[in-house]
Amino acid sequence: MSAFNVAKFGGTSVANFEAMSRSASVVESNPETKLVVSSACAGVTNFLVELANGIKDADHRQEILNQLANIHFSIISELKEQEGVKKEIQAILNTVNSLAEAASFQSSNQLTDHLVACGELMSTHILAQLMRDRGMNAIRFDIREVLRTDDNFGRAEPQLDDIAALAKEKLEPLCNKYIVVTQGFIGSDEQGNTTTLGRGGSDYSAALIAEGVQAAGLEIWTDVPGIYTTDPRIAPKAKAITEISFSEASEMANFGAKILHPSTLLPALRHGIPVFVGSSREPEQGGTWIRKRVENSPLYRAVALRANQTMVTIRSAKMFQAYGFLAKVFEILAKHKVSVDLITTSEISVSLTLDKTDTSGGAPELPPAVRSELEELANVDVERNLSLVALIGNQMETKGYAKDVFSTLGDYHLRMICYGASDHNLCFLVDAEEAKAVVQKLHQDLFETDSE
Ligand code: ADP
Ligand code: ASP
Ligand code: MG
Repeated sequence: MSAFNVAKFGGTSVANFEAMSRSASVVESNPETKLVVSSACAGVTNFLVELANGIKDADHRQEILNQLANIHFSIISELKEQEGVKKEIQAILNTVNSLAEAASFQSSNQLTDHLVACGELMSTHILAQLMRDRGMNAIRFDIREVLRTDDNFGRAEPQLDDIAALAKEKLEPLCNKYIVVTQGFIGSDEQGNTTTLGRGGSDYSAALIAEGVQAAGLEIWTDVPGIYTTDPRIAPKAKAITEISFSEASEMANFGAKILHPSTLLPALRHGIPVFVGSSREPEQGGTWIRKRVENSPLYRAVALRANQTMVTIRSAKMFQAYGFLAKVFEILAKHKVSVDLITTSEISVSLTLDKTDTSGGAPELPPAVRSELEELANVDVERNLSLVALIGNQMETKGYAKDVFSTLGDYHLRMICYGASDHNLCFLVDAEEAKAVVQKLHQDLFETDSE
């Protein structure tokens, strides 16, 4: 195991000169941190996704390009050494310009990945220079040399054996000499095409890189001092959790807690790498440790919210007392590579939600070809404008808790309830307009009472 830590800084932690300087201080204050994984500056990926979706109006494209130039050049204007990094950023902005023009004629997932990767490619040039200005021995490294993925553009799968070998060969020797600043979110396939891991993927990148170099620790620096009992933006009385288990934190991430990309904890868990989550704005506030074993495992740990859910209900009266219905449904879904998230079934119907965290954003669609195949079998109903609320905890089969939960939610319309597959969660699908109120009410009744 390497004796060093990997530290990841999210978009708000590198949003401007002050934020980048605070992040550099965090790295400086811990001599064990040798590898820095950075997101794009806040807002940049959203602009790039807009361009990648194809904007016909050249003036509108130019406006976005100007905004991108502003974000980066205003940070550069505060650097001591500006010339080298200015040229690098200008070259990347030129690439953005030509890719955005190409996307306005015809977009593709491959082109989108090439374009959106430019955010991280730019932020890391600036962050490395800012660190050198402060006298830190920092170099920028292009992670596409190490983070090998398949070619599933927009949601690429990391190739773990390749990453481990490449990290050993290319990254580890650098970490012994320098503070290496590299990109989150992006990778490359075997042919050298740029790929991405899906929105919010920098957390996952950092964990994969930590696994690759067998780091001693992984630090996720963001804009809140740790993982809270729910999103503090939704419930201001949410409390920071000092210590949480991998399974609880994974459930939170899976069920939409934006603080961590859903796959982040898999590599850390595989290699037993402890993970710390803290705020680069207020590092002195401490944060949350995610560990294999924790002292305290409360019945209710947290509430998570995931927006943009699509529910598909497949119903067929013909299937009453017939066998093979579910098998046929899943055969069709598997054939078209439609990934299913939650599911509830009865003898003649099945309701499921579609899974998606790729670069394009928005609610996942049921592809028309899948719909028509399913319609040969049964009636198909697709509903959008739904959100998923998950209550995360421990030993949730405990007697009596269902009464607490359901009496709390008596006034809300629960569209689908999933419980039992894991004793760490209970989740509900609710109308999007009610979702925040449901989270607030659950949090208030289960986490804000004196007995908790
Ligand atoms: P970064 O850009 O650093 O990756 P994100 O915006 O992706 O940051 O994630 C941090 C945000 O996650 C917080 O600002 C907060 O609003 C949100 N969040 C959602 N659930 C939680 C939670 N349980 N605890 C803390 N933050 C949460
Ligand atoms: N920049 C990417 C995004 O905004 C990845 C990340 O920040 O984690 O989704
Ligand atoms: Mg994030």
